Amino acid sequence: MGEAPSQSVETDGPQRTPVENVVIIGSGPAGYTAAIYAARANLNPLLITGFQAGGIPGGQLMTTTHVENYPGFPDGILGPELMDRMKAQSVRWGTHLVEADAERVDLSVRPFRIHTSEAQTIHAHTLILATGASANRLHLPQEERFWSRGISACAICDGATPQFRREELAVVGGGDSACEEAVYLTKYGSHVHLIVRSDRLRASAAMADRVLANPAISLHWNRELLDVAGGGAAGDADWLGSIILRDRIGGGTENLPVRGLFYAIGHTPNTSLLQGQIPLDERGYLVTRPGRPETELDGVFAAGDVADAEWRQGITAAASGCQAALAAERWLSHHGLAVTVRREVVEPAPAGEPMRTLESDADNYNPEALWQKGAYALRKLYHDSPKPLLVVYTSPSCGPCHVLKPQLKRVLQELESRAQGVEIDIEADPEIALQAGVNGTPTVQLFLAKEMKQQWRGVKQRREFRDAIEALTPPA
Ligand SMILES: Cc1cc2nc3c(=O)[nH]c(=O)nc-3n(C[C@H](O)[C@H](O)[C@H](O)COP(=O)(O)OP(=O)(O)OC[C@H]3O[C@@H](n4cnc5c(N)ncnc54)[C@H](O)[C@@H]3O)c2cc1C
Repeated sequence: MGEAPSQSVETDGPQRTPVENVVIIGSGPAGYTAAIYAARANLNPLLITGFQAGGIPGGQLMTTTHVENYPGFPDGILGPELMDRMKAQSVRWGTHLVEADAERVDLSVRPFRIHTSEAQTIHAHTLILATGASANRLHLPQEERFWSRGISACAICDGATPQFRREELAVVGGGDSACEEAVYLTKYGSHVHLIVRSDRLRASAAMADRVLANPAISLHWNRELLDVAGGGAAGDADWLGSIILRDRIGGGTENLPVRGLFYAIGHTPNTSLLQGQIPLDERGYLVTRPGRPETELDGVFAAGDVADAEWRQGITAAASGCQAALAAERWLSHHGLAVTVRREVVEPAPAGEPMRTLESDADNYNPEALWQKGAYALRKLYHDSPKPLLVVYTSPSCGPCHVLKPQLKRVLQELESRAQGVEIDIEADPEIALQAGVNGTPTVQLFLAKEMKQQWRGVKQRREFRDAIEALTPPA
């Protein structure tokens, strides 16, 4: 497409226009980078972060610990922290975030229509699809029964669970994620078994070497997982006790006693909402012009893992987000459709550093505080508070916890002190987690007068927590 002089109009502030210049779907490195570029081009972008569909807000890096290969961080950076920084940078330059899932898109009309889980219909001249990819499951016969009761798709989120401590654990997969998770789990388990379908690892050489050199990891080559079973030495039939493996060469089967099984078997692109709307390849990835962000539909651009089955890295996703935003800007400009914002303040205020909650103790405990942290606050509030108490169990590297905590704090603020919240790090307080029957993070329990009223696992919509609290405390 050739360049044409911009016929764009300007507005005075970041108010929404009836038709958005550019809507970005997805809040991983691709989505946030696209937003940073579009915002700095004064295009007032709107970004739909995602909530439950296709992963979590912040994307896949929310589920990892140290990111050592993202340029600019010589000592590495935690995945959730990197994503917090990208988010803050995009917001600082004026990106409007919509915390929802895109549930349906209509690309057969112009402007395009995007329907969200918050019942909004958003109109857009250009669309950047950055919905990434999601972890695959094996669909074993007994998988559902032991899901979250020994089986997990996120070692980084659930590895610190007390039930896994000093137990034998297994990871299935042979790529970078599998190797990273196996090494990570040696921190908690007594031994880690890595179950590999073939006779070699697909991981990078450095990662494979790390696994092969680790005496706490055993490799089981040419093994296929047939099923899982409960019980075992610990005798708890409701918790995973063993996995059943088939030797793909010799044909025999074996029972391997493990208390935890972690899936690291690849990803499926999050394109279900695009079925029938835009060409996808045979594996479901978005098809783009070679090496470029343009899809086969004029005005629709793709960025990141959703269109990349090969490189799938934070930096490649970010780079393609940049390309997609620049291409969208050119497209809008060529068609004379851009409505740019005029900035009153040329340099936006610094984003600043995120605030951390301090652990409460006898000196700083506040019986009226909306949100506190640690065993001391939990004990005091559990026994003394007349209000509903939300307890969220987290672990330091759990990305979904990172997403959920601000949502819970917002619910408590909206309810104007009708309830209180406390955060327990299960790595720092494993006995509390064990006593509370917590077997993964994030877990949220709602108490009133020392009685547990409800429990949730994973990230849920804010209204679920609000409704549950309101049901216990009808407004005066
Ligand atoms: C365990 C693990 C460790 C990794 N470690 C590294 C590493 O060290 N270095 C590195 O460079 N890369 C690493 N990667 C790869 C890296 O995370 C990905 O390549 C990168 O996150 C892809 O970015 P993305 O923006 O394309 O997609 P994602 O990060 O997958 O983000 C997709 C976004 O789309 C949203 N979404 C999905 N569907 C919808 C919908 N319907 N509506 C709205 N939003 C939606 C999701 O909520 C999410 O925000 C790792 C990946 C994993 C799984």
